Amino acid sequence: MTEELLTIGDFARASGLSHKALRLYDDLGLLVPAYVDPASGYRFYGPGQLDRAVLVGSLRRLGMPLARIADVVGLGPAGASAAVAGWWAGVEEQTGARRDLAAFLVHDLARKGTAMTAPMTAPRYTVRHATGLDTGLVRPAQQDAVHADDPVFAVADGFGDTGADASAAALAALVAALPDAAEASTDVVQGLRDAVAAADGAVGAAVGDTGRTAAAGTTLTALVRTAGGFAVVHVGDSRVYLLRDGGLFRLTRDDSLVQAMVDEGRLTPEEAWAHPQRPMLAKALVGRGVEADVRLRDARDGDRYLVCSDGLSAVLPEAVVRTTLTAAADPQAAVDDLLAAVRDAGAPDNVGVVVADVLAVGGGTAVSGGTASGGRATGGTGLRRLS
Ligand code: MG
Repeated sequence: MTEELLTIGDFARASGLSHKALRLYDDLGLLVPAYVDPASGYRFYGPGQLDRAVLVGSLRRLGMPLARIADVVGLGPAGASAAVAGWWAGVEEQTGARRDLAAFLVHDLARKGTAMTAPMTAPRYTVRHATGLDTGLVRPAQQDAVHADDPVFAVADGFGDTGADASAAALAALVAALPDAAEASTDVVQGLRDAVAAADGAVGAAVGDTGRTAAAGTTLTALVRTAGGFAVVHVGDSRVYLLRDGGLFRLTRDDSLVQAMVDEGRLTPEEAWAHPQRPMLAKALVGRGVEADVRLRDARDGDRYLVCSDGLSAVLPEAVVRTTLTAAADPQAAVDDLLAAVRDAGAPDNVGVVVADVLAVGGGTAVSGGTASGGRATGGTGLRRLS
């Protein structure tokens, strides 16, 4: 029997796995030898086990935990493909969160180090901004709302019969419940989550609770200035983009059913774009408790942020968003050009948009603004760049 099988040495060479690894995978049931000599205890493997061995080794090199590997190798190729895609999306998500936290700590500790020798009395940067709201060409009413007044730059996309009340209540409550970020930098993430929880409560009070299914609710996506930079606060499928060094980066992950399917490897991003279930949210503020995603980011001179509802992001390809943001001389021009592009594309949904530019101190002063909701309006323009 053994002449058809590979010795552990031959199998190790063929699979690229060490003897030690093969013994471990045997003990764990991940890769059980085809035959174990009862007298000598030597392990023998069938040539047909090579594929599984190579897969196990590859997943180990990826860093996948052994228990997860046991699940993956038990699936067929298609199932395993989706499982690896889903697991890797989670890894990238966690890595992004750790990167953000590291960047925040670097800035926060540097700030405290500076404060040891020179009192920190003024922010290192300022923000100029503009907002826009457009009902669009199809919807009968405006349910999006925007807010831009330092330190909060936010969009809420209401849905349901009283969606307009929901989005307005969420923004007002978020602003009212904000922690003093300059005073409590170590607690800023929890403070912001608490502020979103308060906003969720305000939404519940505004729309009422009519039973098993929520009658109305809203997304809530905000850029909030903190002591060390910005926090991106997010629930739903409104988005924050960052234009930096000519590149456009999406900083939020949609809380939507379609995004979940992308994460699981069941849809490509291109397929998600046109998917009929794209507007279906996995998470929103409906007054029943919600945990916001909060990410901390650095602030850099020249950064341009876009906060927008899906009335923009589901209509304009990101390449168009990038070129429009890049070409605009100032936030108001960017808002105007983006709204015009959405109208050119049919404007099937309400649009709420905030554009915010980061300027190092010395490049401008604090700007004014406010909350707006309603039909078509733009306002809250910040300082114009000196040219
Ligand atoms: Mg919308």
